[in-house]
Amino acid sequence: MPNIQVLPQQVADKIAAGEVAERPSAVVKELVENAIDAGATRITVEIKSGGVEYIRVTDNGCGIPAGEVETAFLRHATSKLREIEDLDRLGTMGFRGEALASICAVATVEVITKTVQALEGTYLKMVHGSAEPCEEIACTDGTTMMVHRLFENVPARMKFLKKNATEAGYVSDLLGRIAFARPDIAFQYICDGKEIFSTLGDGQLKNVVLKIYGLEYAKNLIELDYSEDGLRVTGVLGTPDLVRGNRTRQTVLVNGRYIKNHVIAKVVEDAYRNAMMVGKFPVFILNILVEPHFVDVNVHPSKTEVKFANEKQLYDFLYHAAKNALYSHQHVPRPLRETAQLNSAESVTETENLSEKKRYSLESISRPAVKKRGEKPNAEVISNYLNYTAPSEKGVSLTLHVPVEKQQWNRAFEILDEEAQSVHVSQAEEKSENSFVSSQEEISYEETAADFKRSDEREIPSAVQEELTLEVRQSDSASLCRVVGQVFDTYVIFQQGEQMFLIDQHAAHERLRFERLRQDYRQNRRFGQVLMMPVVVALDASELVVVQEQREILERLGFEIDEFGANSVIVRQAPVMTEEAEIKDLLTGIIETLQEGRNITLTEKEEKMLDMVSCKYAIKANKKLTAEEMTDLVDKLTELEEAGINTCPHGRPIKLAFSKTDLEKMFKRIV
Ligand code: ADP
Ligand code: MG
Repeated sequence: MPNIQVLPQQVADKIAAGEVAERPSAVVKELVENAIDAGATRITVEIKSGGVEYIRVTDNGCGIPAGEVETAFLRHATSKLREIEDLDRLGTMGFRGEALASICAVATVEVITKTVQALEGTYLKMVHGSAEPCEEIACTDGTTMMVHRLFENVPARMKFLKKNATEAGYVSDLLGRIAFARPDIAFQYICDGKEIFSTLGDGQLKNVVLKIYGLEYAKNLIELDYSEDGLRVTGVLGTPDLVRGNRTRQTVLVNGRYIKNHVIAKVVEDAYRNAMMVGKFPVFILNILVEPHFVDVNVHPSKTEVKFANEKQLYDFLYHAAKNALYSHQHVPRPLRETAQLNSAESVTETENLSEKKRYSLESISRPAVKKRGEKPNAEVISNYLNYTAPSEKGVSLTLHVPVEKQQWNRAFEILDEEAQSVHVSQAEEKSENSFVSSQEEISYEETAADFKRSDEREIPSAVQEELTLEVRQSDSASLCRVVGQVFDTYVIFQQGEQMFLIDQHAAHERLRFERLRQDYRQNRRFGQVLMMPVVVALDASELVVVQEQREILERLGFEIDEFGANSVIVRQAPVMTEEAEIKDLLTGIIETLQEGRNITLTEKEEKMLDMVSCKYAIKANKKLTAEEMTDLVDKLTELEEAGINTCPHGRPIKLAFSKTDLEKMFKRIV
């Protein structure tokens, strides 16, 4: 074996450079991070030939003082870290002081830089790590770094590079993520002389998404800002409609630094579970803000991998943050639901004529309508909307459609109840002459806009006043949805507007049951059913421990279990509708879930268990449904859709749609 020798500095530098300057995008990353650390508000990145030929990063940051320019290129030269303890407190992107040294070792680098105080700027050129003397140069404040012919002196590295277009793609991807991290910085990215994107730097993440991913993405975002126990996460989540076949449009940032962490991506995806097909991925950009000591970013030279002090806490926190945002998005007010009803053929034609829903502001109503004795208005809260429907006569109903805050629901309800009690009943035959009612329709309810306004003044929340709309609709025959029938005892067909839908009744029912159970579970309503014949289930020692320790959860799920002899338990009560033969499977399945490792959050476990319970009872395929059952199913599904849910708990679709045009195309009526 040859003698052991210390490598010459130049060779060592080249090797070390490989870690930092692995490919053009890595170089861009270091240079842009330096620009950010320099306090720049405007950063331009230009590359040619995938960055192999040329990379330029220009910023309007603090610049480097003339006397320090050369030092900046020395290994371990940094202005950001003085002592090892500083590592914990560091808020900057870079701190290792090796990026510039590494890049210089493998390319020709030029720098032009000027601080605000300096009258002249400095120009420095370094070829493969050796500097040519500095020169004075006239330039604007800030720094421009130019990297020419990357790896020209390390041909071996060149071989690892991909096609220029691919390398350019990596740069675009990286810059996009940095732009997401810093909506307050205006980024411009130019590739081979063409501007790819430029962001405004106005601090609005949505605007960055618009510039980089386009309008389709920008308009389907849910904003998020959630904090708990010193952790905070901000960013945007794509709505469940915004699906991708891969994870490329997921960005996780920690204190503004882009990181790769599959577990975090997975945790966020789990929050979408039930709203998205298996194999599809949501879009999101999340910035996790933690105290620097909570995270160690120094584990990987390119700093894209991090370690967290308390991973479990972080995962639970993120899951809840995402779930919460998705949940509140689902409860954003939507237009009035169209009631599903079985209609005769002619009512459909009628429906078509009336299909335009008319909305009127209260101002347009000048006269009171009258109400028949004994009829009570019917108020219900759908999502955050209070739907206040007055009874109808001759098929016309009045619906007050009022957005309310959650905490205001109850009070609003009370008011409406009082209102209903005090409605002065009259048999006035007076025909409504309200301008918004067509001649053959009649409004016959005494509740009026004026009355409602009075009640506004008393208690109705201010939100109500802002957006009080009134809707007139034909109620008896006006449902815009018609159930046609069932095929193969498995699929329900219905028509709505210009579309035909096929529902998978099993998937639909499974989802409905799941949602119901979930609601009951959350509200701690037990859904157990006493068994006629208690069932004895044999368990092993570790399973018995779960039963003892997690009794509370098992009870919430509807079980009542006692120990029974050495190695078994007796189940006296089980989730409603579970068949006796299935109890053993269900119980052991749930125990298994409870035993699962720490990388699965409690909420995730709960959902998994609820899914198991709901699976046991759902209309199976191959079951004939009555007209009422079908209508009921369609009706309930409409509500679910309003909540943004359109798959079964396992992610299979519930409903397929065919437009009239689709059918016409299939039958070649149109081309
Ligand atoms: P690090 O960023 O880890 O400190 P670098 O090798 O990337 O190490 O940079 C070395 C030093 O050069 C930085 O600490 C900073 O003082 C200076 N520097 C680099 N780029 C810029 C820039 N664009 N503007 C101002 N100063 C810079
Ligand atoms: Mg740096």
